Amino acid sequence: MNSGTIAKLQEGFRGEVIQPADAGYDDARKVYNGMIDKRPAVMARCSDIADIMTAVQFGRENNLLTSIRGGGHNAGGLGICDDGLVIDLSRMKNVHVDLKAKTARVAPGCVWGDVDHAAHPFGMAVPSGIISTTGVAGLTLGGGVGHLSRKYGLSIDNLLSVDMILADGSFVTADAKENADLFWAVRGGGGNFGVVTSFLFRLNPVDMVHAGPTFWPLDQTEAVLKAYREFIVQAPEDVNGFFAFLTVPPVPMFPESLHNQKVCGIVWCCTGTPDAAEKATRPMRSVGKPVLDHVGQVPFPAVQSLFDGLYPPGLQWYWRADFFKEISDASVAKHAEYGAKLPTMHSTMHLYPISGAVHRLGSQDTAFSYRDANWAGVIVGVDPDPANRDKITRWCRDYFDAIHPYSSGGAYVNFMMEEGQERVQASFRDNYQRLAEIKKKHDPTNFFRVNQNIVPAA
Ligand SMILES: Cc1cc2nc3c(=O)[nH]c(=O)nc-3n(C[C@H](O)[C@H](O)[C@H](O)COP(=O)(O)OP(=O)(O)OC[C@H]3O[C@@H](n4cnc5c(N)ncnc54)[C@H](O)[C@@H]3O)c2cc1C
Repeated sequence: MNSGTIAKLQEGFRGEVIQPADAGYDDARKVYNGMIDKRPAVMARCSDIADIMTAVQFGRENNLLTSIRGGGHNAGGLGICDDGLVIDLSRMKNVHVDLKAKTARVAPGCVWGDVDHAAHPFGMAVPSGIISTTGVAGLTLGGGVGHLSRKYGLSIDNLLSVDMILADGSFVTADAKENADLFWAVRGGGGNFGVVTSFLFRLNPVDMVHAGPTFWPLDQTEAVLKAYREFIVQAPEDVNGFFAFLTVPPVPMFPESLHNQKVCGIVWCCTGTPDAAEKATRPMRSVGKPVLDHVGQVPFPAVQSLFDGLYPPGLQWYWRADFFKEISDASVAKHAEYGAKLPTMHSTMHLYPISGAVHRLGSQDTAFSYRDANWAGVIVGVDPDPANRDKITRWCRDYFDAIHPYSSGGAYVNFMMEEGQERVQASFRDNYQRLAEIKKKHDPTNFFRVNQNIVPAA
């Protein structure tokens, strides 16, 4: 890109413009997934809304492939692009807690740890995911599945309003009354419709939670998973627990005898009183013979950052996902088979419950379609060493091929890599056509296409 063109971007831009020749370029283009190695032509690290407007206009006028980067955690690295423009929001961090209104206004560069930090002192939280370093923007716009889903719904179910910059450069607010079509679309439809510059969330009373893991040896997988599939869909909404296959990390938090053992387990996060949580989870925690049952009262942000140390930025990640309404006996057998073959210490499989409060809205009430499913499943092959890329990829694909026939058909878009249009459409099901119409209205040229792309209706 010639210097005259770049000078145009720099005119009136208060943030940082980063180009390939700049010393900070290689650091700036890094995303969370070390498997992604993209080289943008220019990165516009915005400092405010005016900068975002300038960047959108610059991308459009120069016909640049343009990506939007929030927390940089996207599975397929969709916050960054090759040879184009990256609108990097990572420096725009601010959380304003309004205790009277019980809301939090969150800037687009925040990660969930920023929200927890601001809200927890007031005994409040917004439903998010299971790691504190994930971006608020990308996670929310795809739906937001995590520790509080069964009690308070998805992150989007707590989203009250967004401010956005559309492809034509205009600034709009979208909520239930104003630009209601856009508000419907951004609740699950990802970054297809514009750059969200501010998120307004409802705050919920969450302070201490009853949380921690219960682990069982792999030879008990079938009994545990069969009990879990019945237990969790009927459990009180205060009870959240996701099922996982994992390798016990060799850290002091776990007994040495378990270090590096493959196990299946449930990671709990229960709201409500400790007694009620203890009583409600006891039947499941009494199944078979757990090798570890480490559940107790902890501050919510501690649960939310439990995995941060295990999963620092830069590891190799290969993802596959599906929604599940049921976990049949046949699929239990497949899970047991592939769970026993975890290829590396960091690789894992999670089944996140999306029952309880998530089911209070219908499949067409927001763009997030799979309200009738009971689990968002994800298989991730993970390892620090790029030499193990093929090994983790092969396991992940084989596992996915084995259980996909038992799935509901589509996947949670935030757990997908770049898997093609068919897969995107399967994930939005009946909502796809409406999303395509809204996309045509607000982004007819498909300017925002570095995402799980909704193609503008013909
Ligand atoms: C370790 C790890 C754990 C995770 N755990 C969970 C979990 O528990 N629950 C869950 O639901 N998801 C989880 N995810 C998935 C996560 O939701 C997605 O990776 C999400 O895309 C991350 O958002 P981000 O802002 O960090 O990503 P980025 O890579 O910065 O952005 C991803 C996409 O979001 C869009 N986007 C970002 N910012 C904006 C904006 N301001 N306006 C418009 N579009 C924007 C763009 O389309 C972009 O392509 C996890 C991911 C990782 C890596």
